[in-house]
Amino acid sequence: MITVEKLTKTYGKGESRVEALRQVSFTVPDGEFTAIIGKSGSGKTTLLNLLGGLDTGDSGSIRYGEQEIIGLGDTALAEFRLRHIGFVFQFYDLLPELTAEENILLPARLAKHKPAEFEKITQRLGIVDRLKHYPAQLSGGQQQRVAIARALINNPKVLLCDEPTGNLDEKSGKEVMALLHELNQQDHRTVLLVTHDPELAAACDRTIVISDGSLVS
Ligand code: ADP
Ligand code: MG
Repeated sequence: MITVEKLTKTYGKGESRVEALRQVSFTVPDGEFTAIIGKSGSGKTTLLNLLGGLDTGDSGSIRYGEQEIIGLGDTALAEFRLRHIGFVFQFYDLLPELTAEENILLPARLAKHKPAEFEKITQRLGIVDRLKHYPAQLSGGQQQRVAIARALINNPKVLLCDEPTGNLDEKSGKEVMALLHELNQQDHRTVLLVTHDPELAAACDRTIVISDGSLVS
């Protein structure tokens, strides 16, 4: 279970101060597929980045089971992130100077973790014949599948996805959504999906609506 309590995040100071998250609280049971929806600028990415330990909040609590991640030092947070969380971003965030294979294996290398299921993962994602390619040589849909393989390489229980279909054509987008649902239903991974598409949200177990940094439902 992920427990978020009174999470607050402010950017900037004085006149440029933005309250991106205001006392946000919710829980996500293990194995659930939750959509986070809201308008542009409502705080969705900020929330996902805090959940993933990519950025730190001002106050509040984020617990994975019993483990509190607010207040962890950089090294402990990086370690936690590598072992327990997979990320999928709108613009894939692959390293351009690494091949698909090297990108996929990077989190395992960083975690000093033996990548147990590299072959199984790349087969499942249909990218076995693309592994020696660089990101620029791949279509958007292929790049996103490489990014999902990278997210899975350390076998995380939780996948955090920020508009993963936002930059894809309709067909690739549908394939990526089908994959995320499969990773949830077959593998029982917890998935949090940020989207502004109500149709994608309707296919999830539950929807969290965020508006101007506050949870509205
Ligand atoms: P969303 O993903 O829902 O579009 P964000 O979480 O990106 O929203 O942004 C929430 C608010 O915080 C917006 O007002 C945005 O301008 C502001 N914001 C986001 N990131 C930063 C940052 N690094 N510095 C200053 N303000 C930011
Ligand atoms: Mg965003």
